[in-house]
Amino acid sequence: MISTLSVFRESGALLEGHFRLSSGLHSGRYLQCALVLQHPLHAETLGRALAGKLRDLQPTVVLSPALGGLIIGHEVARGLGVRAIFAERQDGVLTLRRGFTLSPEDRVVVIEDVVTTGGSTRETIAVAEAAGARVVGAGAVIDRSGGASKLAVPFVALEALDVPTYAPDACPMCAAGVPVVKPGSRAQP
Ligand SMILES: [Zn+2]
Repeated sequence: MISTLSVFRESGALLEGHFRLSSGLHSGRYLQCALVLQHPLHAETLGRALAGKLRDLQPTVVLSPALGGLIIGHEVARGLGVRAIFAERQDGVLTLRRGFTLSPEDRVVVIEDVVTTGGSTRETIAVAEAAGARVVGAGAVIDRSGGASKLAVPFVALEALDVPTYAPDACPMCAAGVPVVKPGSRAQP
């Protein structure tokens, strides 16, 4: 099995340097899962690997939050041979739309690309439970929570990754005089 991080590096989805993120914070690492998942072959491979870690939970459906969870959720569901559905925001509230349904017999796994705080995973779990289903687990390609995402269900990720961020005035790379760039800039390797 090829390493998840090497696929990320190859796809330019994991850069190392000194970056100004869209939040305005600085980081020594830039992670953009969509740059891996734009390649269907990578999406399929990662989805199958994640499905393998979740199969024992005997899921009957994958539920993902839009947009980040859509592609990987679909590929995990392909690996498990179950449905892939998604929740999306309506007036700021994560909701099942488009005629998607869950039943009390359903065993749901919640799938995302990256888990940072666990907030959107928790919110998606709540959507499934409100629809009457049982959530048996959750999974992500990358866990960058540093163990901080306390979930009430078993959680698996293909990789755990530490991506510290800093306010510019507290950034050690700024203090060391390293030039800061926007991710994706040609100046970066
Ligand atoms: Zn900085």
